[in-house]
Amino acid sequence: MRDTILRTIEGVHEQVAQSDGGALADDIPALTRADPDHFGIVMVTADGRRYEVGDVQVPFTVQSVSKAFTYGMALHAHGEAAVAQRVGVEPSGEAFNSISLDPSTGRPRNPMINAGAIAVTALIPELSARPRFATILDAFSRYAGRELDWDREVFASESATGFRNRAIANLLRSRGMIGDPVDGIVEDYFRQCAIEVTCADLGVMAATLANSGVNPITGDRLLDDANVERVLAVMSTCGMYDASGTWVYEVGLPAKSGVSGGVVGVLPGQFGIAAFSPRVDARGNSVRGVAACRKLSSAFDLHLLRAPSLSTHTIRRSYRLSEAASSHSRPDVDHAVLGARGASVLIVELQGDLFAISIERLAHEVVSTAAQISTYIVDLKHTGAIDRSTGRLLRALATDLVADGKQLLIADPGGVLDPSVLAGIEVTVTASLDLATLICEQQLLAAAGRPDPESTRVELDAFELTRHLTDHDRARLLPRFTERRYAAGSVIIAQGDDADEVFLLAEGVAREVRRRPDSGISERMADLYPGVTFGELGLLNQARRTTTLLAATDVRCFVLTRAQLMQLRSTDHLVYTRIVENLLVGAAERLRRTSQETAMLRG
Ligand code: GLN
Repeated sequence: MRDTILRTIEGVHEQVAQSDGGALADDIPALTRADPDHFGIVMVTADGRRYEVGDVQVPFTVQSVSKAFTYGMALHAHGEAAVAQRVGVEPSGEAFNSISLDPSTGRPRNPMINAGAIAVTALIPELSARPRFATILDAFSRYAGRELDWDREVFASESATGFRNRAIANLLRSRGMIGDPVDGIVEDYFRQCAIEVTCADLGVMAATLANSGVNPITGDRLLDDANVERVLAVMSTCGMYDASGTWVYEVGLPAKSGVSGGVVGVLPGQFGIAAFSPRVDARGNSVRGVAACRKLSSAFDLHLLRAPSLSTHTIRRSYRLSEAASSHSRPDVDHAVLGARGASVLIVELQGDLFAISIERLAHEVVSTAAQISTYIVDLKHTGAIDRSTGRLLRALATDLVADGKQLLIADPGGVLDPSVLAGIEVTVTASLDLATLICEQQLLAAAGRPDPESTRVELDAFELTRHLTDHDRARLLPRFTERRYAAGSVIIAQGDDADEVFLLAEGVAREVRRRPDSGISERMADLYPGVTFGELGLLNQARRTTTLLAATDVRCFVLTRAQLMQLRSTDHLVYTRIVENLLVGAAERLRRTSQETAMLRG
């Protein structure tokens, strides 16, 4: 099958390749060596899947696309406050090489124009052990996920003709925005612009910004979230120079262009985009690169300000424990208790990535049910990422719940919740929804005065199987049972066995397990507690066992074999009929509960 995403990008490439507007930049003479027809487009998902079309392996110098990445480096090295002393974040509305310095402070308007970029390059430390440019080249290599080199010829060409940038640097020096030696700083800025990349590299570099500062291919973290946000903010307002307003209006992505024809765009959390084609417009932006980004944005609906419709799907479902209990089997009396008292426990299953609006939904659900609910179970099995601010809101909600005297349990099988989110709050976090439900069931049963199943013994004549029998009948039936003990860990029923016995669990916990076909690992399906009858269905239809039951603790059972049952049929037909009826009633009750839960969970 053709790849739909790749085909869409190919469609964009094909359309945009028709245009041959613009011209090679000649402010750096060596750039006129480029083949004007080269054209590549790359999209890399924030988790590292790559889509590449056209001339994506052609090397070119990164030029001003570098400015976004060195700005990130400076923020990372010095912190936001120190960097703000040297460069602002206001769009200049002027050309990339304008002399846009704040008249009162001498501070360049923003780091995306040359004046700001030179001030930023100067912020990368120049140490004797490690020259500034080595640090820059190393960081760019980590962004690209491969070792990059730089183009000495382009560097020499710019160095020989870069009078304007030298003038800007000297102005910066005169206002104390950079130190000495001015020439060294400018040369490092030229080297930075001469770093050689491909469109494929720029795609990975953009995806690193889309992935909150972690290179999705190598897993290398280059920036923390807060600095990624700052870089993207400045790219949004200043990245395309004096075309930035139109760019945000039409394309709606933080972006950065370079005069050699590269453009990167970033949709946080989703995609990094790169386009390369050397012909540029009067502002120094690649004509095809800009057109490609515009078309990709509309083909994939990438405009940052388009509201994603996440809010309605946050709550997967919400129900009371009385409507769907844990998978564990208990005597009918206990199920009756849970059916009544379980109405005070609300289970809320969340789904998808969580945002502020998700917590608003959850909080609304909590507040509007608070009069009837004393315990909330929040299931995170189907949720993806929980970012920091959402985590803070979740913490605030948990705090309010606990302060209101409610109990909160969170099931987090995938470990999506950072433990620090709930640190110090009395919340129980479990590895599964079933476990959280089980904890609540035990509380409800204990509150109703029901004995702890682990220390209960149920005598033979107390089982529901023997109900409605006369003393006479009971005397004929009970001796047919044999008592059997299983040591903890031993097998009571093995999958595939002949189903020729029914078990009454008198003491201990039996555990139904299923071997996963993929891994061969046995998983707990359900626990069975004293008072429960099991194995009867197979006995009635002479099938084979479909699951395995183990003794989870030492177990004592009363067992009735099919042979005994058949004997009863020939000698005491009425007792036999009554027994089979009781077995059916018990099985029907279980089936009723199961289908009610299934209907609720499907609905
Ligand atoms: N090295 C170029 C310069 O400083 C970069 C300009 C650009 O890519 N817009 O002039």
